[in-house]
Amino acid sequence: LPVVAVVGRPNVGKSSLVNRILGRREAVVQDVPGITRDRVAYPADWAGRRFMVVDTGGWEKDAAGLDARVAAQAEVAVQLADVVVFVVDATVGATGTDEAVVRLLRRSGKPVVLAANKVDDQRGEADAAMLWSLGLGEPYPVSSVHGRGSGDLLDAVMAAVPEKLLGDEEHAPGMRRVALLGRPNVGKSSMLNKLTGSDRVVVDATAGTTRDPVDEVVELGGREWRFVDTAGIRRRVHQTSGADFYASLRTQAALEKAEVAVVLVDGSEPLAEQDVRVITSVVEAGRALVLAINKWDLLDEERRHYLERELEKELVQVTWAPRVNVSALTGRHLERLVPALDVALESWDTRVPTGRLNSFLGQVVAEHPHPVRGGKQPRILFGTQPSTQPPRFVLFASGFLEAGYRRFLERRLREEFGFTGSPVEVSVRVRE
Ligand code: GDP
Repeated sequence: LPVVAVVGRPNVGKSSLVNRILGRREAVVQDVPGITRDRVAYPADWAGRRFMVVDTGGWEKDAAGLDARVAAQAEVAVQLADVVVFVVDATVGATGTDEAVVRLLRRSGKPVVLAANKVDDQRGEADAAMLWSLGLGEPYPVSSVHGRGSGDLLDAVMAAVPEKLLGDEEHAPGMRRVALLGRPNVGKSSMLNKLTGSDRVVVDATAGTTRDPVDEVVELGGREWRFVDTAGIRRRVHQTSGADFYASLRTQAALEKAEVAVVLVDGSEPLAEQDVRVITSVVEAGRALVLAINKWDLLDEERRHYLERELEKELVQVTWAPRVNVSALTGRHLERLVPALDVALESWDTRVPTGRLNSFLGQVVAEHPHPVRGGKQPRILFGTQPSTQPPRFVLFASGFLEAGYRRFLERRLREEFGFTGSPVEVSVRVRE
């Protein structure tokens, strides 16, 4: 998907503009204590076109000093965005910092759309017009708080997206879409090279002036698979700041397009928090998951033993994911990815017939009824699976079901119907 980055000095209203673009469907969460928020990019659409919008506000923290922070933002935006929205506070006017960023942006050759924010009424239009002086073309007056002008701004943004990136929505039927994910240095590009090797069938010529080829079609097990967003894997990003930010963005953008993720973990190193975060992103995105433990060639007996314990302890949330132990270097067991991908996708696509679901639920509940609470016992009245990819179940109950009981039901659903490699969502609606 095209990536639109929103850049600007602190307090010019970047986050509120991002929220406005998202239509508040998915508010940008500022730091919430106790919750590891890794989200930097959000799927959005305008006039039927989908794109990712990136709030750069989050990762300016590491650099010291205002100019350095804004420059770091601009640097990352230039690396990864297809279109940059540069936000200026029209009530303040262009500052020296703004002008410095403009020079950076112009040198990059990326399309830039200038948003003159905080133009809440007619009188502000004159302030916006002053920003012609920045040399970025027409300033689009917006009020991200009131919503004024955001439609015109988005029209201009969409017009600036390189043509080639917009055609990228059509997916060939029958070809499954795979995201290859993992923290830096786990061996993603090595694996991609090994998998494509000389067998690479097609390279999508979606390379624009700004980005490398987006997807690659790889033949595995006699079939073609679309590896999405491989540009982000092959491209080496050399930068001091924003590396984590970049990695998160790539993960999220790739997950938007993919059906299944292969998450690589470096088996020769201790499991890192970042590994767990990538895996969590896959589950949160509702995509099928295959775990690949890489660099198996480096593991001695002792490390293998320890690794098993580590995986068991740290990855309890995804005990359902199929796992392959591979070496991207030697090619060991790479062919085992195919059955793992197949089973994960099959689970992801599964629809349980309503009759079968309800006879199963009846049986489970008869064997293990919900505990009685305050003299009452909630009953499950009916269950249905309204959607697949991943399977989602809705249970109608006569009262609130305890979390422990909901987990029990999910576990039993998995035991009964499989779902190896796919997240499963179970929600409960209470009917009096
Ligand atoms: P990426 O950042 O995830 O794309 O990781 P790279 O593919 O660049 O790999 C990082 C380093 O690990 C490189 O030096 C690779 O040669 C090495 N590497 C990758 N896979 C393996 C493997 O299976 N075994 C060994 N021994 N080294 C590997």
